[in-house]
Amino acid sequence: MKLPRVEGFYFWGRADHKRKILIIALCCVLAALSTIAFIINRNVYAVSVDGKTLGNVSDRKIVDRIKEDLKSKYRDRLGSDIEFSQEIQVTPVRALGKKIDTEQQLFEKLDKILSVQVKAVAIEIDGQQIALVKDRQTAEAVLQEVKNYYVNQSPGELIKVEVSNSIELAEKFTNPERIMTAEAAKDLILKGSVEMATYKVKQGDTLWDIARAQGISLDELIKANPQLKSEDRLALGEVINLKEVKPLLNVTVTKKVTYQEPIAYKTEIIKDDNLWKWDQKVKQQGENGTKEVAAQVVYKNGVKVQQQVLGEKVLKEPVTRIVARGTKAQVAFRGSGRFLWPLVGTVTSPFGRRGGEFHTGIDVAADRGTPIRASNAGTVTFAGRRGTYGNLVIIDHGGGYETWYAHANSILVSVGDRVEKGQQVATVGTTGRTTGSHVHFEVRLNGKPQNPLNYLSR
Ligand SMILES: [Zn+2]
Repeated sequence: MKLPRVEGFYFWGRADHKRKILIIALCCVLAALSTIAFIINRNVYAVSVDGKTLGNVSDRKIVDRIKEDLKSKYRDRLGSDIEFSQEIQVTPVRALGKKIDTEQQLFEKLDKILSVQVKAVAIEIDGQQIALVKDRQTAEAVLQEVKNYYVNQSPGELIKVEVSNSIELAEKFTNPERIMTAEAAKDLILKGSVEMATYKVKQGDTLWDIARAQGISLDELIKANPQLKSEDRLALGEVINLKEVKPLLNVTVTKKVTYQEPIAYKTEIIKDDNLWKWDQKVKQQGENGTKEVAAQVVYKNGVKVQQQVLGEKVLKEPVTRIVARGTKAQVAFRGSGRFLWPLVGTVTSPFGRRGGEFHTGIDVAADRGTPIRASNAGTVTFAGRRGTYGNLVIIDHGGGYETWYAHANSILVSVGDRVEKGQQVATVGTTGRTTGSHVHFEVRLNGKPQNPLNYLSR
């Protein structure tokens, strides 16, 4: 069977062979060229940090993924608001001749070089940044705790707490290392510095020693420790500040305080004509009462600066002390010669010549401490030490008369005191020149010693 002739086939079949080969070759060249062009034109992404190229990746998305992975790695430790401190640039570049990093390789490179900043809250007091804490809630808690510290320092019922400084809380990205704990921020605000230099008291230390050893003045040391006074004994092991505590906030706390206070009793004097004028008797013991006082107290950083009494309530009335004072009197002495003995005892040395001397009074022996009484009513004109007299009391009775009481152990009156007849003015002693305990008693008229026995009853 004869096949029909097909023109086309015939053409190929018969076509000139050269042309056929040319077309195939042309196709091959085109394919090769486009492959080369593709390779030359292909882009990869160069990753650099602060201008320094770290490597290349084939896809932009890889960088985004690595960033997310790094953030989530830090997030566990630092919370969700974090940012890289450095800028990461991703630039498309021609792939030719570039080494392509795997995702793992680039992750490791970036992890090594990047640092993160976290969102924190700055506490600013009077325009100055004082502390960075991790968030607003922490900052508010710190400020509240500072207030509470002062509120709890004083007793009473809180009326109000005020802070006179301006306080701002500002969000900031910062190095995580700069973020303080709430405790440290609170201490800083309360004390003015984080690290308080302190000193532990050793055996035998005085404030002066410590000040000198630390190279500070005693004044500064006392200022740093308002709880101490210079004369205070230091307790062994007590911790004292070496630097003045300067709180950064001014916190004023107003409180209502109630406290009890004694009410002093009054003394009432009643006259009793059964008693001598120089005698008195307590008829009723006095007793203090008690009152409850309500006051408004203002403390500035723990130091009381103002107190105002709001009201008082008597809880117990005081009991008046009642004293009966004698009115029974001897006829007032005016140079009549009627004197009381200063005490009851034996005259051991009379008035007058004694060996080569002149004894200007009489000596009446008695035990040390025996009361010496005023011979008559009068005014004390001398009470103190005078040479060989020792402790001496002189009483002026008017009319030119004086009585002297010498060698006293103790003196119970002062110059200017008005004394009654028989009132105790001193006690027997051995002061001045004496040979034993006695009172040396003189009566003087216009300054001239008289024989006391002429003036004393008996
Ligand atoms: Zn004498």
